[in-house]
Amino acid sequence: MGPFYCPADQKVYLDQSFFEELAKNHSAPGDFAQAYVLAHEVGHHIQNLQGTLSKVQKAKQSWGGSSTKANALQVRVELQADCYAGVWAHHAHKKFGILERGDVEEALRAAASIGDDTLQKKSGRHVNPDGFTHGSAKQRMEWLRRGLKSGDMRQCNTFQ
Ligand SMILES: [Zn+2]
Repeated sequence: MGPFYCPADQKVYLDQSFFEELAKNHSAPGDFAQAYVLAHEVGHHIQNLQGTLSKVQKAKQSWGGSSTKANALQVRVELQADCYAGVWAHHAHKKFGILERGDVEEALRAAASIGDDTLQKKSGRHVNPDGFTHGSAKQRMEWLRRGLKSGDMRQCNTFQ
């Protein structure tokens, strides 16, 4: 299973073999690609503190079994976490100069390679936007870039 954030105990769970997979099967190696994955999960923690995760959970429950609608809402949650990861990188670079040449491309490649459409194609399925829960490669790259450029969480409102 891929990395995930658990709102109940407020912890990020990550099997390090995911990084090997990212490097081998998704051609997205590199320390900053890994940092982006972690920052995305911490982004979910921020959403938890903001009350976004519980609101989304309630909305999903009120829709009963409509998975298309639920997936569309989940995509917004995921893209916001991507944007927050970008905001983190913006400020970490400002403060500590963490970004090296090629790092941003590294993260964008990781974001693209774990986009739902890419994963669906890889698994031999047709691309089906209704089944997206993380957003397309293009969307993930766009929102990550938006956070990176602006360093401003207010630019990360994927729900509007
Ligand atoms: Zn996520």
